[in-house]
Amino acid sequence: MKTLKSYVCGRWHEAENGFATLVNPSTEDAVARASSQGMDMAATLAHARDEGGAALRAMTFAQRGTLLKAISRALHEHREELLDISMENNGTTRSGAKFDVDGATGTLAFYAALGRDLGERRWLADGEGVQLGRTSRFWGQHVLMPRHGAAVLINAFNFPAWGFGEKAAAALLAGMPIIVKPATSTAWLTARCMEIMVEAGILPAGVISLICGPTGDLLSRLGTQDVLAFTGSAATALKLRGGENLLKNSTRVNIEADSLNAAVLGRDVQPGSETWNLCLADVAREMTQKTGQKCTAVRRIFVPQASVDPFIKVMGERLNEEVIGNPRDRSVTMGPLATAGQLEDAVKGVARLAEVAEIVHGSGRRCDGVGAPAGKGYFMGPVLLQARPDASDPVIHELEVFGPVATIIPYTGDPEAVAAAVSRGGGSLVTSLFTDDQAEVESFLAAAGAFTGRLYVGSAKVAEQMPGSGVALPQSQHGGPGRAGGGAELGGLRALELYSQRVALQGNRPMIERAAGTGK
Ligand code: NAP
Repeated sequence: MKTLKSYVCGRWHEAENGFATLVNPSTEDAVARASSQGMDMAATLAHARDEGGAALRAMTFAQRGTLLKAISRALHEHREELLDISMENNGTTRSGAKFDVDGATGTLAFYAALGRDLGERRWLADGEGVQLGRTSRFWGQHVLMPRHGAAVLINAFNFPAWGFGEKAAAALLAGMPIIVKPATSTAWLTARCMEIMVEAGILPAGVISLICGPTGDLLSRLGTQDVLAFTGSAATALKLRGGENLLKNSTRVNIEADSLNAAVLGRDVQPGSETWNLCLADVAREMTQKTGQKCTAVRRIFVPQASVDPFIKVMGERLNEEVIGNPRDRSVTMGPLATAGQLEDAVKGVARLAEVAEIVHGSGRRCDGVGAPAGKGYFMGPVLLQARPDASDPVIHELEVFGPVATIIPYTGDPEAVAAAVSRGGGSLVTSLFTDDQAEVESFLAAAGAFTGRLYVGSAKVAEQMPGSGVALPQSQHGGPGRAGGGAELGGLRALELYSQRVALQGNRPMIERAAGTGK
């Protein structure tokens, strides 16, 4: 069995005990083990801050962009191997694995291009300069300076490649060294990415470190210039964000947590229309891609009461087409859940939802998978539920079942009424609205916009270009208010703010403009 190593202080660390076992979720065979025992977290942090931070801050954006491009290329050259690990350890189908691995290399390449375009500067001007005095001689300009600490990047089990890649791209371009900590159950893919980067010889000392296994006392050592960027469950986020040293030092913390994302089918959309088809295709994909284990997956589907029956009928037919099993079997379209714990939670979650809603498709129980040994594997088919029209029970808006599960909520009111129901989720990463009616979009935006990080408006005119509501494009913000963690990642150069300190530069205009890099 493979033993995953951490990479800290410029060398590989292999633990001697304290191992957690990683399995193939289709067969339950052990595939690797991981442990961080014996690691010196103080030295890890110091090496990243002192060596990696200094190296990155000395680099221009163009040079950091070149580094990101080299990382993206090196990973892409090993694409087939990385897809294979994803299938083996995450149970993803090949297309689900591409979503993760290509998402990582694509996001790294996107930020590499931003770095190239920013050129020879080492910090960013933020917005326009402004006259502060009686004349324009006294001038103000905000700048974003790279923070002098280390960025600890903790990721969830479902995106071991993209989760690492999207955070790494922003932090490194901003000029901060990173310490990457993948979820242990699926750490193999991230660990292999690290090996590839080290073997390629592209990383200056201390720029990237990797911890496979628990973080020990690392987080309690974070100080005023460090950043904690966390992705995972709301429960873990609650525990981590309250760390006494983090509060005392005002350590930057960004949380990407879970979210009860909603899809809303507009009142104007007729069954069989292009927008109707777009909505059905999107919801079906979001329920089943990566077996519903996406933070952006649709969990609640708001459907006009009159359209509920045809919606369930067509959706049921789509979901029936799914072939559940071991992704090694070419006929399989949906793999297992990633771990025994995830399956157990999903089964319990469906049972809880079924107390207040009716299961209209699927069973919510474990099943055998095509191409997998009988009785083995964490398989569960897609489950569609239908809530009562008032959907009054809070569990529908509060319980995230992290699997191929969604609940239809029939509605009869106007966009404001639907928006009020959507906002009962307490804040989401993404909300999708399918409509061709401009007034519906604006009413819904006014009422529900503040409750979501992204509003994805599906309509006939852009149907062929829309990648799916679950895709976190690097140009647009990823993150949402409230329940979703209150964080913000991606969004082009906005992503660099987390890893930077905004400084208001004030003084003699030519001096300020030259320092900020805005002068002629
Ligand atoms: P999790 O159990 O909260 O774990 C997330 C990460 O935190 C893992 O790397 C885990 O490491 C680590 N962790 C747990 N306790 C820790 C501690 N005390 N100190 C330091 N690190 C700790 O979540 P998960 O089960 O991996 O992921 C599923 C959840 O993530 C879902 O709720 C999903 O909605 C959410 N998610 C959100 C986004 C987003 O962008 N908003 C994206 C993906 C997933 P170990 O594995 O070693 O425990």
